[in-house]
Amino acid sequence: MTVLNQLLEYQKADGELRKIEQEIMQSDARKKVVQAKAFIKNAESRIAAQDKRAVELKKLRDELALRVEETTKAVAEYADVDELVEEGADVSFYKRNAQQLLERVRAAKSELARLLAEVESLTAEYKKMMEQGKQANKQYKENMEKFKEVQAAHAAELEAANAKLAKIAEGIPPEFLEKYNQKRKEKIFPVIVPLNGNMCVCGMDLPIAQQNRLAGGNVIECEHCHRFIYRK
Ligand SMILES: [Zn+2]
Repeated sequence: MTVLNQLLEYQKADGELRKIEQEIMQSDARKKVVQAKAFIKNAESRIAAQDKRAVELKKLRDELALRVEETTKAVAEYADVDELVEEGADVSFYKRNAQQLLERVRAAKSELARLLAEVESLTAEYKKMMEQGKQANKQYKENMEKFKEVQAAHAAELEAANAKLAKIAEGIPPEFLEKYNQKRKEKIFPVIVPLNGNMCVCGMDLPIAQQNRLAGGNVIECEHCHRFIYRK
């Protein structure tokens, strides 16, 4: 048998194997497994972001607590203000200071309210995500079981197709086989295609000199898509 015919036979058997593999990979169970996996991965990164924000919020809270403490201390100093006024001190100076302190307390209060609101929404989001994560985990486990059943149901068929492919492979020169399998790894299929007019199936024009090399059932490689080309 010529290399061309061997390759064509190999590709036919490979196509059958591919069909079984696709049936397994396109099963409902497999799709749901992939979906659940993607959701879990996304949830993990969102939880990591929330954890980071929680650390930032804790730092802000500590800073705010410190500011409140300082302001409280400053306010306490006003306990003696009556005495100072009686002694004839400048009242407007104290008034101004008191106003500034009040402003700081107000600012701290509103910042605290904002902080608490964020903590609340963060907590709610976290709870929601944990719940959704649980669901996704359940979906993952259930469908993984179903997927294994799908795989088991196709196991014998798959084994037979692989054995057939291996048998044909024995007659193909290794350099052709290696190139073929490399292309399959790159998701190229079909790998060996007939010349279409003057072109490869990818649209690349083949110079006459190269077309002449196809005579006698020869196989050449497309310089563009690296498929094997033959003349029908
Ligand atoms: Zn091509």
